[in-house]
Amino acid sequence: MKHLLCILTLLLAPAFAADHVDRIFLNGKMWTGDDAHPTAEALAIAGDKLVAVGTNADIRKLAVADTAIVDLRGRFVIPGFQDSHLHFPGPSVNGVNLVGADTLEEFQKRIADFAKSHPNLPWIVGSGWGYATFPNQSPDKKYLDAVVTDRPVYVTERDGHMGIANTKALAIAGLDRNTADPPNGHIMRDASGNATGEFKESAQRLVEDHIPPENDDDVYQSVLAHMDEAAAAGLTSVQNASWTPKSWPAYLRAASEGRLKLRFRFAPIILPKEGGSPTAHKLKTPLTTDDLAYYKELRDTFRGPYLQFGAIKGFLDGTIDAKTAAMFDPYVGGGSGIPFWEQDDLNQTVALYDREGFQIMLHAIGDKAIHMALDAYEYAAKTNGTSGRRHRVEHGELPKLADLPRFKPLGVIASTQAMFASPDPTALQNFAVVLGPERTSHADAFKLYDDAGAVQAFGSDWPVYPFTPLLGIYTAVTRMTPQGTPAGGWYPENRIPVEAALRHFTRDGAYASFAENIRGTLTQGKMADLVVLSADILTIAPEQIATTRVLLTVMGGKDTYRSPEF
Ligand SMILES: [Zn+2]
Repeated sequence: MKHLLCILTLLLAPAFAADHVDRIFLNGKMWTGDDAHPTAEALAIAGDKLVAVGTNADIRKLAVADTAIVDLRGRFVIPGFQDSHLHFPGPSVNGVNLVGADTLEEFQKRIADFAKSHPNLPWIVGSGWGYATFPNQSPDKKYLDAVVTDRPVYVTERDGHMGIANTKALAIAGLDRNTADPPNGHIMRDASGNATGEFKESAQRLVEDHIPPENDDDVYQSVLAHMDEAAAAGLTSVQNASWTPKSWPAYLRAASEGRLKLRFRFAPIILPKEGGSPTAHKLKTPLTTDDLAYYKELRDTFRGPYLQFGAIKGFLDGTIDAKTAAMFDPYVGGGSGIPFWEQDDLNQTVALYDREGFQIMLHAIGDKAIHMALDAYEYAAKTNGTSGRRHRVEHGELPKLADLPRFKPLGVIASTQAMFASPDPTALQNFAVVLGPERTSHADAFKLYDDAGAVQAFGSDWPVYPFTPLLGIYTAVTRMTPQGTPAGGWYPENRIPVEAALRHFTRDGAYASFAENIRGTLTQGKMADLVVLSADILTIAPEQIATTRVLLTVMGGKDTYRSPEF
């Protein structure tokens, strides 16, 4: 295994930056993200690097006989987008995609159509539904039984923290009214105590353990398909918040076949001694000292520029929608969520990885979970005498206001998701209702982190939300849905400027992955990762950002997406 890793490292080594200029882009309007030279007209690419960024006159001089010349005709160019938190490989090519199936009719139609077109699949699985799809926000097996009875069906909610099974799946899993809730999970039941078919958090395993795993080629096809979509959205680098041994061969294969269209930084999972989230359990058996040794080997072997390790991921709580995000004060209607870790266990595990030089990403959504994450980071820095680890709070949707000033001095990154602030039906009808008005008024308020001077790196949490950075920027800037509701924005005092959102999707993402010296801005000597857009998003009306298009995506000097319009 070790030998194979070494060979792959050689294959993945950065191309030697030749002096020969392969391509120049002229007559652009460039936002570089580089404070020393914030704007430019032109740039030159040699190999996988930017060898010059400057004026048309300066760059034109660098062209040699066979240099390709691209006339941008005034188009807007930015550094390649970085998504700091998503989940590749994402929805399976062999599963039903329920993202955007907002009515019960559409939800059932997609499942019925998929079952019909995949007659040989033993299980029908899928993901991406939201609570607003169901009458009274109440998912139930009867909605699945109405369309598929001959095979088991299990479809997960868009956050992955809940799922619904049909009657056939419950029978295969051997679940009945006497089955008890597992630790950190709930089997939802009706008034007479029968399972409704909905499973929350770790209870999902009761069903998922019976679903046959995907084969390697299916995973590979999913990775390829979703890389294409990501490149079309302008992404050049992503941080994968859930590395799994299962999907790893797909990336190695894509690398060896020269088919990578994104730079990946992967975070394997750490788990508490007891319990843990279902998402985590799906990925990894509990932490052992062997894991640390293996994670170190991955980190020290894969150092980029395409495949890289160096961070590890833990889950401190669930989600607001499921009322499993850990809160200091109860939700409207009761309960205050489930912290998945004991503080002491968390402190010791964080300190162990911190000492070994890892960056730690802790999923923390509720104010209590965020507080616990900051306490653990503070403990590790003090105990180990370390600094500059750039530990991160993932999501950070509802920080206690008194905790905001702790981010900057601790050097903790707010890894937030721009589209979480989209006031869609789920946010308005479910999320907002369970928090009450006071907490809702500062939920997903990215401005709070900016005002506190924290480094804020934007992501999507895809497949929870689309990984389209332009939609993310639009959301952070307007706090409206792509349809323009509510007019004026949802708690508009939390809007941020376009340039701030752009930074969070470019150079702050590079910083969050320790790559600010090689990417994140259009700067001489950095990787040639850039995007050409259909409009200058800094000057158009913010409402138009949602319909702005990516025309060209370049990663490492190569086109990974080119629109027919370009
Ligand atoms: Zn996530």
